[in-house]
Amino acid sequence: MENFEVNKVVLIGCGHVGMSYAFSLVNGASHVHELVLIDVNKQKAEGEALDLMHAACCSKYKTEIRFGDYNECNNADIVCIAAGRNQEKGETRNDLIGKNLEVFKSIIGEINKTKFAGIYLIATNPLDIMTYITMKLSGFPKERVIGSGTTLDTARLRCLIGEEVKVNYKNIHAYVIGEHGDSEMIPWSNATIGLNPINKYLSKTKMKSILNDVRTSAYKIIEKKGNTAYGIGMCLKNITEAIFENSNSIFTVSVFNEKYGVSIGQPAIICRNGVRKIEDLSLTAEEKMEFNNSVKAIKSVIKNLNV
Ligand code: NAD
Repeated sequence: MENFEVNKVVLIGCGHVGMSYAFSLVNGASHVHELVLIDVNKQKAEGEALDLMHAACCSKYKTEIRFGDYNECNNADIVCIAAGRNQEKGETRNDLIGKNLEVFKSIIGEINKTKFAGIYLIATNPLDIMTYITMKLSGFPKERVIGSGTTLDTARLRCLIGEEVKVNYKNIHAYVIGEHGDSEMIPWSNATIGLNPINKYLSKTKMKSILNDVRTSAYKIIEKKGNTAYGIGMCLKNITEAIFENSNSIFTVSVFNEKYGVSIGQPAIICRNGVRKIEDLSLTAEEKMEFNNSVKAIKSVIKNLNV
């Protein structure tokens, strides 16, 4: 497709997460015209591309799909990285750092040889650490290195609250922020259902148990099926659409924040150039402490990184 208006995504890592994202794009992202699949396992990338092409033929949107190599990044608008190791039963996200740092060194080393000047979208865990590593290894400005952050956790939160209070999740204005990991937190003081503060619907005890359910949901799913994929696939697709539509939508993506010295999940406005603005947080003293604990948890890992 030779056209300057073509929107092109290169996906690196064709595993559960990567292919769930790719399938979501083909199904529902009208603004993605080209999708290129890359994996260290070339045969897998080729097989997935062939399979997905047939899905694309049944979609209402037209997406050109192929597998390829890193030269495809030259004119890509978005490079999404979902490559690397996944948690196994009982592992935390931070247990993946050593292996996934090596994976990212090899991938971003290859992309640095190309003319890629678009936006990085990161899915690999530990998410905030890998987002920070991408910024460091690529030398890209922070606005163009976006991690999925706590978008999935926010979706899980809305899902749980919606079930509890029997209100459509679209009317639940609540967010998870902080580390995409065990220290993530919910600023309940900002949360509303429709126009009402959330404490009109939920007791303190219920809020506590919902936070615990959000934090442990990945562990529960991995225990049963070995991975989580559909939720993050849709979140990545929604962020991709917001970029191509220049929609100025707010997502709790992971983006580097100078104030804290870490990449961390915070509400940010997403436009065609990446992150337009990180929203200021208005938190209670207790919530500030919880958020700072999350910052500290990420910092303690970053300080031992060799990037
Ligand atoms: P997976 O094992 O199914 O897929 C990983 C893929 O990466 C494989 O196809 C593998 O061949 C490929 N790969 C490995 N090294 C590579 C390299 N150097 N270059 C190119 N490709 C390479 O794993 P998955 O279940 O898809 O999970 C992928 C990552 O996403 C994990 O780190 C997982 O923890 C993370 N994840 C993140 C979220 C989130 O909310 N951000 C949610 C779920 C999973």
